[in-house]
Amino acid sequence: MKKFLKEEPQIYFSNDNKKIIKVIKYFCKGCGICIHFCPKKVLDWDKDFKVFAKNPNDCIACYLCELMCPDFAIFVEKEK
Ligand code: SF4
Ligand code: SF4
Repeated sequence: MKKFLKEEPQIYFSNDNKKIIKVIKYFCKGCGICIHFCPKKVLDWDKDFKVFAKNPNDCIACYLCELMCPDFAIFVEKEK
């Protein structure tokens, strides 16, 4: 995947490092679908109108954002 990326993803960790949210900013068109559907209000727009993880500690790793993003711009990982 890395060779297709023009820039490194933005990476947001929960405090216990067990949940990781990755945003590929240049894929994100700021549509807000993930922000709207996140059940824990983890996500928000940044100053560039791209998504960022405002509250990564609240993420429950439901993967809804990842599943709903039409542009494959957000990914969630959960350490087992
Ligand atoms: S759904 Fe995808 S494209 Fe839309 S704001 Fe979220 S990350 Fe960006
Ligand atoms: S995995 Fe679920 S809780 Fe975590 S940011 Fe995505 S939608 Fe929100």
